Formats: sequence, structure tokens, C-alpha cells
Amino acid sequence: MEQESNKKSLDFIRAIIAEDIANNKNEGRVATRFPPEPNGYLHIGHAKSICLNFGVAEEFGGTCNLRFDDTNPTKEDTEYVESIMEDVKWLGYDWGERLYYASDYFQNLYDFAVMLIKGEKAYVDSLNADEIREYRGTLSEPGRESPFRERSAKESLDLFERMKEGEFEEGAHVLRAKIDMSSGNLNMRDPIMYRILKQSHHRTGDTWSIYPMYDFAHGQSDSLEEITHSLCTLEFADPRPLYDWFTEQLGIYAQRQIEFARLNLSYTVLSKRKLMQLVQDGHVSSWDDPRMPTVSGLRRRGYTPVAIRSFCEKIGVTKQDSVIDVALLEHALKEDLNKSALRVMGVLNPLKVVITNYPGDSSEELDAVNNPEDESAGKRKVPFSKELYIERDDFMEEPPKKFYRLSLGREVRLRYAYFITCTDVIKNEDGEVTELHCTYDPQTRGGNSPDGRKVKATIHWVSAKHSIKREVRLYDRLFTVAEPEGDKEGKDFTEFLNPQSLTVLKDCYLEPSLADATPGVNYQFERLGYFTVDTISSKNTKPVFNRTVTLRDAWAKVKGK
Ligand code: ATP
Ligand code: MG
Repeated sequence: MEQESNKKSLDFIRAIIAEDIANNKNEGRVATRFPPEPNGYLHIGHAKSICLNFGVAEEFGGTCNLRFDDTNPTKEDTEYVESIMEDVKWLGYDWGERLYYASDYFQNLYDFAVMLIKGEKAYVDSLNADEIREYRGTLSEPGRESPFRERSAKESLDLFERMKEGEFEEGAHVLRAKIDMSSGNLNMRDPIMYRILKQSHHRTGDTWSIYPMYDFAHGQSDSLEEITHSLCTLEFADPRPLYDWFTEQLGIYAQRQIEFARLNLSYTVLSKRKLMQLVQDGHVSSWDDPRMPTVSGLRRRGYTPVAIRSFCEKIGVTKQDSVIDVALLEHALKEDLNKSALRVMGVLNPLKVVITNYPGDSSEELDAVNNPEDESAGKRKVPFSKELYIERDDFMEEPPKKFYRLSLGREVRLRYAYFITCTDVIKNEDGEVTELHCTYDPQTRGGNSPDGRKVKATIHWVSAKHSIKREVRLYDRLFTVAEPEGDKEGKDFTEFLNPQSLTVLKDCYLEPSLADATPGVNYQFERLGYFTVDTISSKNTKPVFNRTVTLRDAWAKVKGK
């Protein structure tokens, strides 16, 4: 048998950091950063990185910077900067004073570049983009040196200066590192450090006509901030020797980079480019559409920060690429909501029930439990009267064997209320059931039978005249296949969109306590799932409810097998 241990074992990143501290590396200091590029909204994959970077800092008494890697003005915008800050805060993390922008380092980076040119470690190349690509070679073929490679430092300095002054058109020249055109690592074949871009930057305006490449900015930004542990996803393992080369040549502080596997989630795409396409092509309404895997979409859908952090903890960090079942994310959510959500009753597909032996206009109030998982949540009153709504699905005229809910002549329990028996089925001209007539047993108030009589089903309901009518939106997975990004048979991922990802129900009847429901509060509609008020659609109209998730837990079933 495996030895039981109360100690949580550290993942490989935390183990490395613990060891570095034990060895007094960086005098025991731990400094991490979360470095998003403000070219889109954050998604659940970024949440993994946020939980890791801020989590590590918290656990080891270190710091975590929020740094915008804003080196490409063609794709970046303040809208994204603002949403990213909002999302990190909402997840429960605080960067305090430690807010940085790579664009704040443009002058430092320029000075670094000048240093490298003077040391003959960088040169201005005047090949065009196609030629540079052609000269680069392939994995099996070495590259060729540019004819401009041996340009004197003086000439390169002059050209670089004039590139900066805006004297040349885009593409006329680039600045390249002088490393090794025959390196087995393509990143080391004289990578581009700077290109000319005649673009306004969202923070530096028109100050610059040249912008550093990500690969020249990222490592030096880490170095300038004295990041001790630079945690990145696996794709940064290949350029790591380049980052090391730059810090070494410049003789500046060198962070330790550690790579981990990015999050992939089934039935979900997590590439910013694809998420952008979903928005731009109108497959979803916006970045924060409740079907999007963005942090803002999840928030609007009804996800909680607790659930997202717990999910990130469950998946952990490894070096192995894998696809996580989206059911695990839903499971983490249900675990949290089961503890915290208030229980209420709402009928989504209403069928009217008339209690024929209930006195005319009168009504009464019955006690209902707010949360069986949390006694402190207390009780509330739900009104009962002669006319009710029940879920259409909870009645069948000709019930199959295992259907125990309402049918003609059968008795069921109304949650918190009474036993009722169906005596008559009313239909319209088309033969559709429009109304049920039932009798109730006044002896069963509160849902208990005094004579020990048993019923096989308990169903939810609302009082017709007391209920409020609301729109409810049912969300389902956005894709119909587990790996929509798989590029199957050359198909575009949009071919796998689920046409049923959104169902709008206009006429749902909810118990009156929900008239006060505000965005950000989660409710369990008994037997149906978790719901929350939509933040955006409810601004100028009656509140609209989003279904966050259904009650069935696919993940728990898999685990329980
Ligand atoms: P792109 O570079 O294509 O714009 P990106 O998803 O890498 O997209 P960044 O803004 O560069 O976006 O990401 C910020 C940080 O979040 C990076 O450190 C990156 O490694 C991390 N990150 C991005 N996607 C994931 C993911 N799916 N799982 C874990 N971490 C991620
Ligand atoms: Mg990136």
C-alpha cells in the first residue's frame, strides 16, 4: 500500500523554487510575473498561468508583477489592457504597485541594441522579409549569411538611428542579432531584434518608428524587473538559448526560465486568434459571451473565482502536453456552487396546474430551505395558491415504466408543499396538453404524509399569480467535438460549432424571491441547474437569467466508476 502523507507534494516548478530558496539563490528572493500581450481577452488558459505565478509568489513570500508585453502596436489596444486588469483582480490576485509595461522599457531596449551593435553582436540587415526567410534555411539545411552581415558597427549604428528617426519605410531594414546562421536551433540564426513599424502605440503614441521583437523584449524585461523565476509555456523552450544569449552578451541579471505545459481543454478553443475570429465573424456576441472560455465570459456565465482557482489547483502543472476534460472545470464549479448557491424554484417550460379543491382566491406561505449544505442560509417563504406551474416534462399522459412523476391518477409531492393527484388532463384542439386538474391533500402540508403514504417523485413548482416571468438562456458547449482545433481533414474549427449552444426561453416562471436577484449571485434552480443574472443583458431590461451549468456531473460519474 502507498504510504499516506498529509504533506501535499510540490509540483516540479514549486520543487525547483523551494530548492533555489534552500540554496539561497537570489538571496532567497522569489519574483514572478504574469506577462500578457494586450491583444485579446484573457481565457481559462491564462487563468492557469495567473494562478501559478501569483500562487507561487504568495506561497513563497515573494512578489508577482503584472506586465503587459505590449511590443506590437498593430494588434494591441487599451480595451484589452483594461479587461486584463479587471480579470486578474476578479480572480482574486493583487499586483499592488507592481504594474509594468514592456513599452516602458523601449528606451532601455534601444540602448541594449546599441550596445550590441557597438560590440559587433548585432547588425542592420537590408534584405527584405522574403529574402530573410529564404536565407534562414530549414531544420535540415543550414542558413546563409546575409550580404549585410559584415556591415561595420558604425554603418549599422547610423542606419539604426535613422530607422528610429523614421527615415525609412517599413520593411526597408531590420536589426538582427549576429549569432550563428548554421545553428541547429533556428531561433539562433541571426534573429530579428527590431523592425520598422510606422504605427501609433497605445501608450507611447508616435514616439517610436521601430519596435522590438517579442524575443528581444521579453527576456530583458524579466531581467530589468529582476524576475527570479520566469514561468512560461513549453513553446518558449526553443527560444530560451536566445534569451540567455542576450542577457549574457549584455552582461545583465539573468532570470531562470522554467517551461510548463499550456492548458488545453476539450470542446474548447484557447487560441486568441480563434477566439477573436469567433467574435469578429459573429459566431458569438462578444469576447464576454457566456459561451466563451474567456475569464469575462465565464464570469458572465456564472463561474466563480473560487471554482476557477480550484480547477487550476486540480490540474496542477506538468511538462506533459495533454487535453483536460472540460467536465473537470464544470465539476470544480459545481463543487463550489453546491456549497454556496441559494436554492430556489423556477419553471422553464411551464404547464399550468389547477388545484380544484383549493379554496378560490386564497393563498398561503410555505417554508423552504435556502441551502441544505449551509444551515446559516436559513429559510424563506414560498407562496402557494390554486393555480401553479410545473415543468412540462414532469407530466406524461402515457408514462413509460420508469417514469414516476405526474400522470393521470398518480400522486406526487410538490416540493415543500403538498401531495397532489392528477384527476383531469385538459387539451387544445391539436390534442396538446394545456392544463392539468389536480386535487391536493391538506393533510400533507410541508410535503409530509401523516399516514406514512409514499410517493415516488417530488417535483418543483411555482404559484402562477405570485411568480415572476423572466427570460432564461440555456448554454451548452460551443463545439460538438472534443478537439475542435484538431484540423480534421482540413476542416476549419468553425465547422464544429454547436448550433444548439444557446437556447433562449422567453416565458419562464420563477418564484417571487428572484425578483431581487442581482448579477453575481448564484442560484440553484432545484432539479435544473445553477443560474445567475446576466450582467450585460439585464442592464436596461428585466433581469435575464443565464444557466451556468446543469446539475448532472459527468466528471463525478467518470471518477466514481
Ligand atoms: P499569443 O502569444 O498567441 O497572443 P498567448 O495565449 O500566448 O497568445 P499571451 O498574452 O502571450 O497570450 O499569454 C500570457 C501568458 O499566459 C504567457 O506567459 C503564456 O505562456 C500564458 N498562457 C497563454 N495561454 C496559456 C494556456 N493555454 N495555458 C497556460 N498558460 C497560458
Ligand atoms: Mg504569447
